[in-house]
Amino acid sequence: MAINGDTEISARTDVGADEDGCTCAVDEHRPDLDDSHRDLRDDEFWRHVPAYAELSAAEFHDHRFQSRNCITTARKLREVLQDGASAAFYADVEAGVNRSTMSLRLSPYLLSLINWDAPETDPIRTQFLPLASRFRPDHPELHFDSLNEQADSPVAGLTHRYRDRALFLALDTCPVYCRFCTRSYSVGLDTEGVEKVHFGATLERWEQAFDYIRQHSEIEDVVVSGGDMYNLKAEQVELLGRTLLDIDHIRRFRYATKGPAVMPQKLVSDDDWVGAVAGVAEEGRRRHKQVSLHTHFNHPAEITAITQQGLNRLLDRGVIVRNQTVLQRGVNDNVAAMRGLILRLSYLNVQPYYVFVHDMVRGVEELRTTLQTAIELEKEVRGVTAGYNIPAFVLDTMGGGGKRHVHSYEHYDREQGIGVFTSPAVRPGQKFFYFDPIDELNEAQQTRWADADERRNIIESARQTVSR
Ligand code: SF4
Repeated sequence: MAINGDTEISARTDVGADEDGCTCAVDEHRPDLDDSHRDLRDDEFWRHVPAYAELSAAEFHDHRFQSRNCITTARKLREVLQDGASAAFYADVEAGVNRSTMSLRLSPYLLSLINWDAPETDPIRTQFLPLASRFRPDHPELHFDSLNEQADSPVAGLTHRYRDRALFLALDTCPVYCRFCTRSYSVGLDTEGVEKVHFGATLERWEQAFDYIRQHSEIEDVVVSGGDMYNLKAEQVELLGRTLLDIDHIRRFRYATKGPAVMPQKLVSDDDWVGAVAGVAEEGRRRHKQVSLHTHFNHPAEITAITQQGLNRLLDRGVIVRNQTVLQRGVNDNVAAMRGLILRLSYLNVQPYYVFVHDMVRGVEELRTTLQTAIELEKEVRGVTAGYNIPAFVLDTMGGGGKRHVHSYEHYDREQGIGVFTSPAVRPGQKFFYFDPIDELNEAQQTRWADADERRNIIESARQTVSR
C-alpha cells in the first residue's frame, strides 16, 4: 500500500473501503491525475484588459458593472481590448457576428478570462465570439428548432413533451448569449438572418402557462428556463416559484440559469435575487418539495474563486445546484478539459448532471462533435470521482424523442456519420437520428452527403437496420 502517493504506487489488488463503505479493490494511483482542479484563480486577471486595467476588485466584481458593461458589438470589443488583438482578428469577429444567428453579449468577467495571447483557440472565446473564418456549412439535415420544442407547446413558451415534466420558458433574454444556444430560434435579439419567436416575461403569458400546469395533474416537475432566469427580478423569481409550489401535484422544479458560469458576481452581491431563490427553496423543503438550480459550466477555466464565493452563498442556504454541459469541439472535447470540469464542479459541490452532445444548431457546425467523441470521453471520465458526480453523456434527439444515452444507439455507422436511436418511453415506435459533422467524414462520404438522393439512401438504409 502506498504511504506517499508521490513515491509509491499502490497495487490494484489492495483492499479497502470505497466511498460507499463497501470492501473492494482500491484503485491505482493515477500519475496523470492531480489536484489542480482545486487551484481556483484568485488573481486580478481583468487587469490585462486595457479598459479594466485600473479597476479594483470591488469595482470589477460589482454585478451591476458586469451587467452594464457587456460587450454587445465588435466595435465595443475593440474599444475595450484596444491593441490586445490584431486587426485581422477584429475583422474576423465582425464578419462572424454579421453571419451569426445569436446576438453578441459577453460579460467583462468572461472577456477577461480569455487568453488574449491565443484567442483563436481559447475555449471561452470559441463559445461566445464567432470567427467567420471558422464557420462550416450547416449539415443538410439541420432544422432550426431541431428539438421540435414548438411542436410540443400547448401554450406559448411552455413545452410538454414528457408526461410528468414541463419546460417553462419564462423569458427570452440572458445575461450573455452563447453561440451554440439550442433555443437560438427564440433567445436574444433578432439578428440579420433570423427573426425570433419572442417569449417576454409577461404575467399574462405566465398565467396561461400556470393554468395549463394546474389542469394537467400528471405534471410533477417543471424546468424554469428561457432565456435565463438570472435576468428575472427577485419578485418575479419569487412569484414564479411560489405559484408552482402552490400547485399540489408539482413535487419539484428547477430554475435553470447560466448566470453562475458567466456572471458569478450576482450571487455574491445581489442579496434580493439570492434571497428569492433560497427563500423559495426553503419554502419547498417545508412542503417536502424539491427546488434546485441547474447551471451550465462548459470548461474549468470558467470557474474561479469568485465563482466559489457565489455558489457558497447558495450552499449556505441549502440550495441544490447541478450542472449541465454542452460538448463542443475545441472547447471541452478532450479528456483533460472534461475531467478538470467534473472534478472542479464536484469540488464546489455542484453536481455534474449531464453532458449534452451538441444539438444541430444553425451557424455553429464547427462546434459539433461526432457521437464517437462523446462515447470515448464518457469512458475516459467514468471512475474519475464518485459515480453520482459523473455526468450522463446524452444527446437530445432531433424531432422530439428526448434525451438518449450516447451508448444506447441502435445503429451507428461511423464512416457515414449517422446514428439511429429509439425512445420507447417518449415516442414508442419512432426512430431518431444523429448526424456527425460532415467535415469530420472522409471525402467520399462528404460527396455522398452533398447529393440529395444519396443522402436519402444513407438515411433510409440506416433506418432499415433498426427493426423495432
Ligand atoms: S444562457 Fe442558455 S438560453 Fe441563454 S443563450 Fe446561453 S445557452 Fe441559450
